[in-house]
Amino acid sequence: MATNLVEVRRELSLANRIVANEGIIDAFGHVSMRHPDNPNRYLLSRSRAPELVAPEDFIEYDLESQPIREPGASQYSERVIHGEIYKARPEVNSVCHHHCPAFMPLLATGTDYVPVFHLGAVGGIKPPFWDQHDEFGDTNMLVCKPEEGASLARALGSNWMVLMKRHGVTVVGTSVKDCVFRCVYSARNAEYQVRALTIGDRIASLSSGETQMAGNIVVQTTGLTRSWEYWSMRVAKAGGAVPAAAKSAKPARAPAAKATKKKKSAARRK
Ligand SMILES: [Zn+2]
Repeated sequence: MATNLVEVRRELSLANRIVANEGIIDAFGHVSMRHPDNPNRYLLSRSRAPELVAPEDFIEYDLESQPIREPGASQYSERVIHGEIYKARPEVNSVCHHHCPAFMPLLATGTDYVPVFHLGAVGGIKPPFWDQHDEFGDTNMLVCKPEEGASLARALGSNWMVLMKRHGVTVVGTSVKDCVFRCVYSARNAEYQVRALTIGDRIASLSSGETQMAGNIVVQTTGLTRSWEYWSMRVAKAGGAVPAAAKSAKPARAPAAKATKKKKSAARRK
C-alpha cells in the first residue's frame, strides 16, 4: 500500500520547524527525507527558512538532485548534500545540513567532537572532519556541485555526522525523527563541550564502549517518541504548528499564497 504522503509531508515540515525552534538552523539549513515509496528519490523543501516550511513546499528530487517536475519555485543551492548522501548510504532515510552556532568553535579550530554526556553519543565519538578546500581549493564555501556533495558523502563514511570545517555540520538518520534527535542532542553536546573547554583543558568524554551503548538509546527506548512530542509542543507554543493536512498535498507551484490561505483557515478552526 502506498504511503500516506500527506502525513509524510506534514512530518517533514514539522521536522524543519523543530530544528529551527531548537536553535539548530535559522534562515539557512534544511532537513530532507528519502521518498518512502521510491528509494531513488527524496523530498526537500523549496528554498525558504525552515521555520516556515509547510507540507506543500516539498519538491521531489532524483538522487542527482534534479527535480522530478519543474518546481516553479527557487531551490536550495546545497541540495546535492542530500542527493549524494542518499546515493552513498542506502540505510539513511533523512539528512539535515545546518550551521548551528554551538558547533562553530569546533569547526573554526578543527577540534574533535567528543560526547561529554550520554545523549551526546548520538553524534558518535570523534566524527570525521571535511574541508572543501582540501579537494576543491578556493570556492564560495557552498556545497553546490555534485562532486562536492560526493566528496562530503565519502568523508561522512558510515558515521552519523560529518563536521564541515569553517562551514557547518551534516547529520543523517534512519528516519526523520532519528535525524532530528541526532541534530538536537549533538548540538547540545557541542555546546557543553565548548563551555567545558573554557573552564578546563581536560574533557572527560564517554569511552567508545559507552558511546556505542548510549548511542543505542535512540533506537531502544521511548526517548525518541517522548522527545518528538516535547519538541512538537514547543513548536506549537511558539505559534509555529504545521497547518492541518490538506486532502491532497502536491508540491505547490505558488506555495506562498496557498500557505497563507491555509494558515488563516487553521486559525479560524482554533
Ligand atoms: Zn551550508
